[in-house]
Amino acid sequence: MPVLPAEVVLAFAEVPLTGTPEQVARGCVDAVRRLSGCRVALHVPTRPVPLAVGDTGAGMDALVTFPAPGGEGTLLAGTRAHALPAPVREALARELGRVWELQVERAATSGELDQLRFHLNALQQVARTLSVVRSGDETVKMVLDSVGEVFFAWWAALYQTDGEDYTCRAVRSPRGSLVARAIPAEVVREIAAPGQAPLVPPRDAKIRDHVPAEVAVVAPLDLGEAGAGVLLLGRRLSDAPYEEHDLALLRALADSSAVAMRNAELLDRLRAQATLDPLTGCHNRRGFDEVLNAELARGHRYGRPLSLVFLDIDHFKRINDEFGHEVGDHALQRIGRVVRHTFRATDSACRYGGEEFALVFPETPKVEAVRLAERLRDVVATLPPTAEVPRAMTASFGVAAYPDDGADAAALIRSADRALYQAKANGRNRVEVA
Ligand code: GH3
Ligand code: MG
Ligand code: MG
Repeated sequence: MPVLPAEVVLAFAEVPLTGTPEQVARGCVDAVRRLSGCRVALHVPTRPVPLAVGDTGAGMDALVTFPAPGGEGTLLAGTRAHALPAPVREALARELGRVWELQVERAATSGELDQLRFHLNALQQVARTLSVVRSGDETVKMVLDSVGEVFFAWWAALYQTDGEDYTCRAVRSPRGSLVARAIPAEVVREIAAPGQAPLVPPRDAKIRDHVPAEVAVVAPLDLGEAGAGVLLLGRRLSDAPYEEHDLALLRALADSSAVAMRNAELLDRLRAQATLDPLTGCHNRRGFDEVLNAELARGHRYGRPLSLVFLDIDHFKRINDEFGHEVGDHALQRIGRVVRHTFRATDSACRYGGEEFALVFPETPKVEAVRLAERLRDVVATLPPTAEVPRAMTASFGVAAYPDDGADAAALIRSADRALYQAKANGRNRVEVA
């Protein structure tokens, strides 16, 4: 019985179109085997691995070719099949072409789905990471880690406006790629205004002259009150270009990163406010506890000394009584300023209570702390009267040192306090040592 073209159509109707490429290829081979009674093989140049399904051996020749994923597919068959009439062979080519055209579409659709799934995952992950409010520095690091990982970029860096310049806030670079410390604002403005979508900077963009590493993408960040920022990404590990859909994903990531950074900024500011005394600008009691405990832990770890100095203004009540509370406040502000600015840039000045201040001197032995306290005593005592504070002041000091006068914060505070009491008892305007 000769084979008819209609039988080809019927046989191919049984090929499972929704299987894996290999299952589809086997279905085609089976259909042709049934029709021709010959040995049959199918070659499809799919990527990354080409498919070769069916019989092998001598006497197998190409019977028909058809458009397939990766290029042109070939149907091979034994000699007898080559005697099939031309219309049947044409029907075979048509059916094979139809089956594999569908596979091309399926591959494209599943590629798109994979991409969407990847985007969704990345967004979810980044949203989760950034939903926890952290400090500014931690957040910036998280942003760079997330974005760098999503795009497999060689490097990622975040810049923030600092007046006229964008200064580098953080870099993520496994290979240690060089980035600029600062980029002039107009160079950034020229290609990326705040709120604009991420873009691949043009070949001749000036930013390329300012950053030693190759800038593949620039994403502007709107940081609200904290100013503007830009996220720079290097090339990708895979060398794949940043396509439209990558830039769309990056925009979503950049927007949520900006929100996270604004929140972090707010939190940092609240934290700073919570540990500062508004009247004097010194740390408050809470800030003092944090500073002292942190410095004690460090001193303990590295076996370094630490000194604590208490300062109490002498007869402060009299100032309030004589000139009123407002003058008293000005006097406290004045002493706060002196305490904060007399020494090297330390953040260790604290207002411990009403008119009592505490100074933490890390890495400082007691003899040195006594010298510093004497200097401060002299500065306070020689402050000239002003319109705001029309009276000279003096203060008394108590000095204690770790580890000799106390092994922990409480013991050290007690020692310094006792020494201060001694200074008061011995006539005020003096320094006493624990
Ligand atoms: P001494 O030399 O023994 O330290 O005498 P003193 O008057 O300084 O000490 P005392 O502890 O008796 O009084 C401290 C005063 O500081 C009492 C309080 O009204 C005043 N004071 C505490 N905090 C403030 C403040 O924030 N503003 C003003 N104006 N006064 C304050
Ligand atoms: Mg006092
Ligand atoms: Mg007091």
